[in-house]
Amino acid sequence: MSNWTATHPYKDKDWNQTCDYCGCVFRMENQLQDGHNESEEYYCPECGKEFKIRACITPQVTLISKRTDGKTDSYNNN
Ligand SMILES: [Zn+2]
Repeated sequence: MSNWTATHPYKDKDWNQTCDYCGCVFRMENQLQDGHNESEEYYCPECGKEFKIRACITPQVTLISKRTDGKTDSYNNN
């Protein structure tokens, strides 16, 4: 049995996500590692809204299109 995935992180699916607060679109690159996945936070690159996902490291986020709500405020995570 190979336990390659136990020592080598592998890429989960990348996908584009639309922020449900400000409407911007950003690309999410997530990595999983067997036995090391836990809840990691990542933040909307425009408004800072917090999202959570299971991953081994903090996901990489790349802005694709700007927010569409016409505001400049930040999402209040509390
Ligand atoms: Zn946002």
